[in-house]
Amino acid sequence: MSQKFPKDFGVHDILDLILCDVDYLITCSNDLAIIQNGAVAILKGRIYDLGDSEEIKARYRARETLSLKGYILMPGLINAHVHAPMSLFRGLADDLPLEVWLSEVIFPTESKWVKKETVYLGSLLSFCEMILSGVTCFCDGYFFEEEVVRAAVEVGIRGIAGQGILDFPTPDAPSSDRMFERAERFLSSTHSEMVRPSLFCHALYTCSAATVKRTKELCQAYGALFQIHLAETEWERSKVLELTGKSPVEFLEDLALLDENTLCVHGVWLSDEDLNILNDRGTGLVHCLESNLKLASGVANLPLWLERGLKVGIGTDGPASNNNLDVLGEMGMVAKLHKGFRRDPTLCSAWEVLKLGTILGARAIGLGEEIGSLEVGKRADCIALSISEPHAIPLYNPISHIVYSAKASDVKYVWIDGKPIVRDGRLVSLNLEEMLKEARRISQEIGKRRESV
Ligand SMILES: [Zn+2]
Repeated sequence: MSQKFPKDFGVHDILDLILCDVDYLITCSNDLAIIQNGAVAILKGRIYDLGDSEEIKARYRARETLSLKGYILMPGLINAHVHAPMSLFRGLADDLPLEVWLSEVIFPTESKWVKKETVYLGSLLSFCEMILSGVTCFCDGYFFEEEVVRAAVEVGIRGIAGQGILDFPTPDAPSSDRMFERAERFLSSTHSEMVRPSLFCHALYTCSAATVKRTKELCQAYGALFQIHLAETEWERSKVLELTGKSPVEFLEDLALLDENTLCVHGVWLSDEDLNILNDRGTGLVHCLESNLKLASGVANLPLWLERGLKVGIGTDGPASNNNLDVLGEMGMVAKLHKGFRRDPTLCSAWEVLKLGTILGARAIGLGEEIGSLEVGKRADCIALSISEPHAIPLYNPISHIVYSAKASDVKYVWIDGKPIVRDGRLVSLNLEEMLKEARRISQEIGKRRESV
């Protein structure tokens, strides 16, 4: 047993689970460890030990031992930015500019359809999609976030739930005063082991300086993550510059909002000076490439973020602007697009991108000490990808395979906090068919009402 294991665990004869005979165990720790014929031993939701499969099997006994011959075992993927309930609006309107898409489609639809039941159901739908494609942790921002927490706990996914804040009436807060009262109630009453509460200011063009400041103060009072969409479009950057004489990052810096507990999403339009500020403050940034491409917002300079060592994760953004929650697919796109866009095949290597989807993403959202890599003492959030399909053969380099060849459907097993959530490609924590039937029924109603408008 490693010295790094928390002292309060003590020495146990019988562990909960041993995952053994793994073809390639990818830890995603800093040293790029790949263990062939590896094993992971799990106790009380945490990684108790890992290493050579024969040694682990000889050293421990467990209530369950599962052979993963023919699999890669790696940390679960982190979706560092999503609006999970919006899955019910997937494909409702596409091919529009962000401002038009938001003001003419999303906001009016939300005012009619966002209620407790739809937030709960949309979240369940998103969590099932994410888990079945290897995502074990999400970072969300929306309304009725208690329902997001309820859905997450029910299906067994880890995450951060950010109650949405805007300067106009929202589906769950008819006035701004009620909004803060509501936000504080959410922060003070959410005590899930698996889902941390957070607040999410939509953007600087929908929240005043006073609103973002008050939101950050509330977050500070409760030790919660403050999230905001920032510098997503050229229009947003120009608007903030015109109104304040500062870039969006400089504006937040002057309000003393940037620190390690702030997460900025998008950052497509950032200057060199903006990057210096974010780096100095240790502020997290989320790259949502496919959403930025689909809404034609531009391409963030991720290679420069990585070169500067910023705290960066990958996010899919909401299912209405992507339109899927496939982080593995997003990683492949990130690794390839930046090479082509900057005409340099050495940018965004497979290893860098794998870390973005795991340990770096975990650090960006403030959970790097607990998840994101397979290390003794960390939470046992891990996924097994089958390498028996034609697209996995030959397999010379497992890191290259994960980023450039693997598909979401290769994910056959998922454990979160040491609990089995997917076995042999099937979700075990929820009746998927029943949930899909209900999601289809509601989406047909949403579609009909929209046609009749
Ligand atoms: Zn977003």
